[in-house]
Amino acid sequence: MLSTKYIFVTGGVTSSLGKGIISASLAKLLQARGYNVTIQKLDPYINVDPGTLNPYEHGECYVTEDGAETDLDLGHYERFLNIPTSQENNVTTGRVYQSVIDKERRGDYLGKTVQVIPHITDEIKSRIRLVAKKNHYDMVITEIGGTVGDIESLPYIESVRQLKWELGPTNCAVIHLTLVPYLATSGELKTKPTQHSVKVLQENGIQPDVLVLRTQKSLNDEIRQKVALFCNVDIHSVVESIDARTIYEVPLLMQKEKLDETVLHKLALPAKSKPELKPWIAFLDKLNHPKHTVTVGLVGKYVELHDAYKSISESFTHAGAVNLSTVNLRYIHAEQVQPGNMDETLAGLDGILVAPGFGSRGFEGKIHAARYARENDIPYLGICLGMQCAVVEFARNVLGLNNANSSEMNRKTPYPVIDLMEEQKSITAKGGTMRLGAYPCDVKKGSKAYSAYGREHVAERHRHRYEFNDRFLKEFESHGMKAVGINPDTGLVEIMENDRLRWFVGVQFHPEYRSTVLQPHPLFVGFVKAAVEYTEEKNQRKNN
Ligand code: GLN
Repeated sequence: MLSTKYIFVTGGVTSSLGKGIISASLAKLLQARGYNVTIQKLDPYINVDPGTLNPYEHGECYVTEDGAETDLDLGHYERFLNIPTSQENNVTTGRVYQSVIDKERRGDYLGKTVQVIPHITDEIKSRIRLVAKKNHYDMVITEIGGTVGDIESLPYIESVRQLKWELGPTNCAVIHLTLVPYLATSGELKTKPTQHSVKVLQENGIQPDVLVLRTQKSLNDEIRQKVALFCNVDIHSVVESIDARTIYEVPLLMQKEKLDETVLHKLALPAKSKPELKPWIAFLDKLNHPKHTVTVGLVGKYVELHDAYKSISESFTHAGAVNLSTVNLRYIHAEQVQPGNMDETLAGLDGILVAPGFGSRGFEGKIHAARYARENDIPYLGICLGMQCAVVEFARNVLGLNNANSSEMNRKTPYPVIDLMEEQKSITAKGGTMRLGAYPCDVKKGSKAYSAYGREHVAERHRHRYEFNDRFLKEFESHGMKAVGINPDTGLVEIMENDRLRWFVGVQFHPEYRSTVLQPHPLFVGFVKAAVEYTEEKNQRKNN
């Protein structure tokens, strides 16, 4: 068996250059060549995990099968590689320090002074190696969050330096991603920022093996030569990463630039046969040749930052491709949806998705959107809080339960149709204490959800504290709002569906975390299909 090889991806010049996509694309190419690869993200912040972070800070919190609340880049890793990640795939500075301090309190350091080097760096290194050990990966790609030169990422950079030295040259490769800005006034691409950021790495004792240069314009040989010379790498190790139409094209662009071959060469691994990318290319082909267009309204309260709904928007890309449809997402601010303006704010939509969320800001707007979808029979997908909104709306406006609410929003509501789960009642700490991760769900035959899944037993990922209060179930069901997905172990309601409408589904779980390029999520596929059919019906009506 091959001993694991380690690839590190660092970033320079600015943040948001797409280290996650480059890591995922390289991993995809290596996987397509038959290697067993995973990706890990090291985040420099002191939160133990991003679960307690407001999505405005770093975008959505992604949840793994095993219930870890993680950075959104793990979503890209899963969507590209089609294999699950887990808690070990995301490490934060907070988690590292927490475990070092726990060890210190236990007395594990035997009276020694506990220091960044070696104690923090040892902890970081052991977490990098732990990922490899768990599934005997051929390669682990570790993405270092932040930008080189940041004070807070120094212990990670130092750990990479140590590992590179410990493992030896063919067992470890460092890829540095930087920006080559284009100056429109002089019509030039500039390499100086790259040179400087490589210098910072070198000052920290790391010579990068490969440079990936983000650019708007193609790099000519002269620029590549210049970067190679000044940054101490060979010309084949200067890789262009030009702006792509979609992130899913990046693996093919990286293949053209031979990033995978260059890395394999550094690691003294055979390039085996060509990467098997047929299903990936078939997906891109569908994505690039749509026959339909639908507009879906995403009603949420963090819509100013699209990263807050990353997995949802990517799920629409996957499901759109299956349906040969472009899905235009219209981000709608929940606080702006009011009874007096719904015909304008929600005009022309072919589907409405009410997003997950916490707290009362925007909650009433989401309820109005759910009502609009129900009254106008517009395809509806409610995710987590979006399902809870559909339930509260139905209780108030169909069942006539005045002031019905979720007890999250109003603890004194006379009709808590959504209520705190029993197991949550004694919990006070916020971090990592929700109902998290994958739980089984039995789907009732004959439901819309069942026709989407095509099977009865599924497992979906959760992140919530509140649930449908089944004290009210009979009343809901007798008016057409049915519980069609139930957790077989606990009886918790997982899917509610209005069987009198064309496609109105609310799910307590998060289907968006499981949608991948090669396995688009059935509920998103079903929802987009319903939206396409609805548009066609509207067009036909118009033409008659
Ligand atoms: N705030 C709701 C709950 O905790 C919904 C959570 C969510 O949408 N992820 O149950």
